[in-house]
Amino acid sequence: MKYQPVPDYHMHTPRCNHAVGEVREYAEVAIQRGLKEIGMSDHSPMPNGFDAAWRMALNELPNYLQEVECVRDEFSEKLTVRVGLEADFHPGTEDAVQAMIDGYAWDYVMGSVHYIGDWAFDNPDEEERWAEVNIEDAYCDYFDLVARSASTGMFDMIGHPDLIKKFGQRAPVGSVRVDNAESLMLEAVKASGTVLEISSAGLRKPVGEIYPHSRIVKKAAAMGIPFYFGSDAHAPHEVGHGMDACLDILQSCGVDEVVAFEKRQRRMVAIREI
Ligand code: ZN
Ligand code: FE
Ligand code: FE
Ligand code: ZN
Repeated sequence: MKYQPVPDYHMHTPRCNHAVGEVREYAEVAIQRGLKEIGMSDHSPMPNGFDAAWRMALNELPNYLQEVECVRDEFSEKLTVRVGLEADFHPGTEDAVQAMIDGYAWDYVMGSVHYIGDWAFDNPDEEERWAEVNIEDAYCDYFDLVARSASTGMFDMIGHPDLIKKFGQRAPVGSVRVDNAESLMLEAVKASGTVLEISSAGLRKPVGEIYPHSRIVKKAAAMGIPFYFGSDAHAPHEVGHGMDACLDILQSCGVDEVVAFEKRQRRMVAIREI
């Protein structure tokens, strides 16, 4: 490690049906890797059974919180364990999502866009739909949804802010439309006071790069938008993955601190070389 570890706030549990490992195992890996703080952020339930195969069921929420609280108590001397939620922004579901946010004592709520209309664009099962869409439109629609998610004011933070690139489809170089959509997204994030994720997950995906692209990190940093780190671990061994690479990008963009969350309040943590 080049940097002292910062909090990793993006990790899942088997409740979402596509992650492995108990919360305790995520915590154990975090301790082995020298992290002082982690937070779980499993995929939130959605109303009316929407994409139920890829998320927690509503009746799992109390068990989820309880498991995290148990591990929090068990490891309290060595590791701070926060509990959050990766909530979806999918227009039309805001009231149900808001009720879930209000119903529990979250340390943070992440807003993520995984759907354009009924298309789960980052789901491997729906990857073939990329062949039918206009890539420039997909990027614009995606950034527009992220902007709208920030503007709701429901979320503390934005997960993987350019997830649309996951499978490697690229917007045309120099597209003015995509550039505008990207800028409007950042303006909405700035106006709403939301925190952006820098995520190592893209390094493990076909695109092979960090979310968001360093160009977006640079623009956001220049606007004074704060960041937090997320590995988006879906298995314990992924906890803290790629943290140095993400912190390197932040530092090169002049960012020298990241955000830590507790009960939806923020504090800044300095990025320090070891
Ligand atoms: Zn997931
Ligand atoms: Fe996600
Ligand atoms: Fe996630
Ligand atoms: Zn995710």
